Amino acid sequence: MGPRFLAVSILAFAAAGPARAAAPAVRVRPVPGKAGSVVEHRQITLHGLPVRRAHETVVRTPTGVRVVSVVRPSHAPDLLPSEARISADAAVEAARAELGLAAPPTVERAPQLVYIDVLGHPVLAWEVATALRTRPEPSRKTLWIGAAGGVLVAEREEVFASKATVYPTNPAASPEPVTVELSDIAADGPGVPLISPRLRAMNCSLEPPDDPDLIEPWWDEGECYAVHRVFSDENGNFFVPLPDVRLEADNVDGDDLYAELSIYVHAERFFDALVDRGVETFPCEFSTMLANFRYTEPAVSYPELAFGPLNNAYYTNQCDPDKGVTMLFGQGSSIDFAFDGDVVYHELGHGVTSDLSPDGLWDSRYRRDGLLRDARGINEAVADYLSAMVAGDPYLADYVGRYWPSYTRPYIRSARNQKRCPDDTIGQEHNDGEPLMGAMWTTREQVGPAFDQVVLRMLPRLPGDADLESAAAALLEVMDEMIDEGVFDAADRAVLYRALDARGLIDCPRVLTDPVEVAGGHTMWLRRKTSGVEPFLPGPIQLRHEIPEGSDNFVLSFKLTPRGTSTGNPIEDPVSSKVLVKFADASIEFTYDLVSVVPDGDAKEIVLVGGDWDATYEPSVLDETQRQVVVRGLLPGQVVHVSLVNDETTADAIASSVRIVSLPADELDEGATPDGGPGDPGGTSGAAGEDAWDASDPSSSCACRSGDGDAPWAWILPVVACRHRRRRKGGR
Ligand SMILES: [Zn+2]
Repeated sequence: MGPRFLAVSILAFAAAGPARAAAPAVRVRPVPGKAGSVVEHRQITLHGLPVRRAHETVVRTPTGVRVVSVVRPSHAPDLLPSEARISADAAVEAARAELGLAAPPTVERAPQLVYIDVLGHPVLAWEVATALRTRPEPSRKTLWIGAAGGVLVAEREEVFASKATVYPTNPAASPEPVTVELSDIAADGPGVPLISPRLRAMNCSLEPPDDPDLIEPWWDEGECYAVHRVFSDENGNFFVPLPDVRLEADNVDGDDLYAELSIYVHAERFFDALVDRGVETFPCEFSTMLANFRYTEPAVSYPELAFGPLNNAYYTNQCDPDKGVTMLFGQGSSIDFAFDGDVVYHELGHGVTSDLSPDGLWDSRYRRDGLLRDARGINEAVADYLSAMVAGDPYLADYVGRYWPSYTRPYIRSARNQKRCPDDTIGQEHNDGEPLMGAMWTTREQVGPAFDQVVLRMLPRLPGDADLESAAAALLEVMDEMIDEGVFDAADRAVLYRALDARGLIDCPRVLTDPVEVAGGHTMWLRRKTSGVEPFLPGPIQLRHEIPEGSDNFVLSFKLTPRGTSTGNPIEDPVSSKVLVKFADASIEFTYDLVSVVPDGDAKEIVLVGGDWDATYEPSVLDETQRQVVVRGLLPGQVVHVSLVNDETTADAIASSVRIVSLPADELDEGATPDGGPGDPGGTSGAAGEDAWDASDPSSSCACRSGDGDAPWAWILPVVACRHRRRRKGGR
């Protein structure tokens, strides 16, 4: 069987391979600021099916055509379209299981058979486009289920949020009144809702509309009802009460009219600003924007509110008004996300990124140093850049930052930042995009607003799984072209290069090497394992540590939690981690191979992650969140590289306060005291340390504690000082 399939596949590939694909779909966009030139995104097809995550992008100028980005499979497919072994229904069932749902997900269209590029292999798969779900929080995933074995070969979260999840602190905010200018709104007479040729702005009510026909087809149980509540007056004007944002009540009013007007006004302002820069298209010809979104049931964390808040705003990439909203602005627990123009611009910025890039900048990159979330980070950086550009202000979401008690500073992010790769990258898109945003905005401040064109013209060159380094290279490439066009000069290029280089973006191995950083408590997001990956996905960053004189060990400690949510209803899925260690002064090199679901099978669907790590450790569980690994028997001067991975299928996990230290060998012989760490805001207090100790696994036989609480390393939680048996490594 196997050889026959192989022969057929290769012949078929040769006869109808991507190089000779017939009539592929082409998306044409003007090159911003360059009259007469267009970008053509050409879809690649194989045996009559589209190949997802593959494209060829060319720039066509009056004088010629040049390929600027191309991704196409490098192997023949294992299966022909006629050889799918599971049905569309089975694919939907597999999607249900993968999403952890009780009932099959609502799909936006019948599952479609496509090829999708995985590690250069065109894998025959069912494309299952699930409709937007707003619980546990907004998500709209497209899943590709392998047509041979039914595993998840790829997934794409179409929803982008406007911020990273944060943890509450207690800032002193200084309220200031805001003034809002309303312009560009016109209606002929009374009763006109906020609908333009480009978009409609809607409000959300906890009460259903009197006429059941007015309930949107995509409304779901437990959600507010999308309705128009702002209408023009007799003069065709839209005047609504302005909120006084100094009053808490005005910020948590889910029935205010201003939110609906705000998203409309700011969206129109954004579109106008982009048209001024030569961007006249958007993924949606007509966008649906929904303000005051909230849930009818109160949330666990906010019992004082009469509704369940949504502390975020989202771009969903949904253009069909009958299938769902394009953008969603939450009525939060302390603030209304629709009030902040920056948030509106940011969400629309995701739309521009989606429209101008060949494949959307959604996908993670399998790299030898880790699993990178960079493409989504670039997406966030561009959304932030465009927001700052339209607002003319580098501080993102001033209102949200100022009036939301969760923030310690009067904005969410600043485009004028000094964040660096890899010191500040954690595998979370908002964080990982900040160095790039900082580099782009700093350059703009020095070379002028013409730099906006560089950012916009970078996008068509980036594949869907671009990393930060390729974004930096593309920016420099466009800058070089615009020097030839006479827009910039060599000094401008030097400014850009310095801004990128100072933030580590020219070349950024994802290994933390600075001993202060490694001991300082890093955060990293560990992506869950799916059915299409074995045995786990690499972490986003490695830590390098050298054993100092007088020590024979290293102690890795971290907190492990499920990711937070924006709804006040915590995720309670179990999280679990493993620690990979390489005993060498060279980082772990991960490898990725596509293998078949069954041994000696003829259809490859599973990404097998391997690598040259020497040992895999199961961390000791010190309390509900605290984890620790102690490794002894090492020599001073010896170097280790460490990567954390998540081997649970249920949820992404966050490892925070990740730090590696070495203890004096003789003191570790006696054990360490449990003690909260000074200067460790994310750490556990001394008392909690005691609790932690009490709560630790009673069956653990290697736990011990005693010693001097004044030792310099006394912040470390009870050290489980045992020589861990090295496990067989998790690779092939
Ligand atoms: Zn975003």
